Amino acid sequence: MSILKVENLSKSFGGIHANQDISFEVQPGEILGVIGPNGAGKSTLFDLITGFTKPDKGSVIFQDQNIFGLRPDKISNLGVGRTFQKLKPFADQTLLENVMIGAFSKENNQKVARDKALEIIEFVQLLEKRHHYAKELSTGQRKRLELARALATDPKLLLMDEVTGGVDQKTIPGLVELVKKLRDRGVTVITIEHNINIIMDISNHVLALDQGKKIAFGQPKEIQNNQKVIDAYLGTVDAA
Ligand code: ADP
Ligand code: MG
Repeated sequence: MSILKVENLSKSFGGIHANQDISFEVQPGEILGVIGPNGAGKSTLFDLITGFTKPDKGSVIFQDQNIFGLRPDKISNLGVGRTFQKLKPFADQTLLENVMIGAFSKENNQKVARDKALEIIEFVQLLEKRHHYAKELSTGQRKRLELARALATDPKLLLMDEVTGGVDQKTIPGLVELVKKLRDRGVTVITIEHNINIIMDISNHVLALDQGKKIAFGQPKEIQNNQKVIDAYLGTVDAA
């Protein structure tokens, strides 16, 4: 049985059909990669699933529960976490404080929240930076912060928006390893990712979007050889 079932999900901004009748399912324990050119509707899809943008129509079933149109905090409490393409840490708080904010969504006890935050910071391999202000961290470290803050809400399903985007090349393998470790921890992952090599490496399935529509869904190899995907996207990116 799928952990997430999206059907005919749609959203327009004025005349722009940012998402048009998007349907797909995600299996528990898998990594689903989402690809598509800029403006394809990838981030909007995440916003609709997680409640940050109100969908126009469709349905979103998470573990047998309809979460369509619910508020973000409600959806997060049910076990759907996310990270943002545009990072939004609290710059003047430390890494530890930032992650504790995530932990407080599930835990009122200060000590328990702190211990949990520390365990997660260790998991993302930033323990030595725990007392550094978020604004002092590099982009790669802030991506890990963002991931840690999302993990502190105990997601069963985690949506990651371009976790390797904008970080320097040498920090990418470490981030990719983290995503795999997350899956090994039992978290189901949906990841928006531009690097096709990473997609091929980590995804069990791939969803390809273009101009607000689903153009393909399948196993990575099928997607890589799909003519629509090549025309819309793969032909234009540097696959190096
Ligand atoms: P992607 O993440 O694939 O690059 P987005 O989901 O960010 O694409 O954007 C899809 C389309 O929707 C784009 O044309 C974008 O300009 C538009 N869009 C996204 N969010 C908004 C918004 N809040 N208001 C108006 N237009 C938006
Ligand atoms: Mg985006």
